[in-house]
Amino acid sequence: MIIKNIIDVFFPQLCFGCESALLRNQKILCTNCLHQLPFTGQHLYRNNDALDKFYGRLSLQNCSCLLYFTKEGLVQRLFHHLKYKNQPQISYYLGQIYAFQLQNLSWLATVDSIIPVPLHKKKQKTRGYNQVDGFAQALSEAFKIPVDKQLLTQKVFTISQTQKKLFERTTPNPLRFSINSQPHHHGQHFLIVDDILTTGGTLESCGKKLLEIPNSTISILCLAQTQ
Ligand SMILES: [Zn+2]
Repeated sequence: MIIKNIIDVFFPQLCFGCESALLRNQKILCTNCLHQLPFTGQHLYRNNDALDKFYGRLSLQNCSCLLYFTKEGLVQRLFHHLKYKNQPQISYYLGQIYAFQLQNLSWLATVDSIIPVPLHKKKQKTRGYNQVDGFAQALSEAFKIPVDKQLLTQKVFTISQTQKKLFERTTPNPLRFSINSQPHHHGQHFLIVDDILTTGGTLESCGKKLLEIPNSTISILCLAQTQ
């Protein structure tokens, strides 16, 4: 403990939003940045602008995102650290905040499993982790719903997002994901989770694949949505 206190004095943990030194009871964000997070409040309305993105494309039970993503903003800084600076704990931290907001939603009790959007193996190996896993884990712990990472896998290796225009995702390609379903998956309600909802192309591909399972239904939760 003493050693940790000494380390904290010389190398204090910094806020991922503003780089000010965090107090000992703070993690990831300082109180000031925490209060500046642009929450969408979408979970309070079944019909919202996140669900609208999938209108006519994918049949969803529910869809909402925790934050609005704006370029050059606090949320972009958080996601930059999450995806490119080896800080997977940001995903779990935001997941805990979201779980707190979602605690009174009755539809979550109907979810059978949480499906994090899979990364291609090669990409996950390069990054060292899937940036969605912490989010899935936080929801799983809060709502006692299992995470299933075996059901859906990504087949085709897509080039890095940084190599493309930053927020231009590939067009939906149902062949991009493969499914490994068993009879017990029939009729289940799957909650797909992802980090950022942009055009929705990736989520649409995942969702269509899961809807190939007889009588299945799907919902989506994301940590952020571009406006
Ligand atoms: Zn801060």
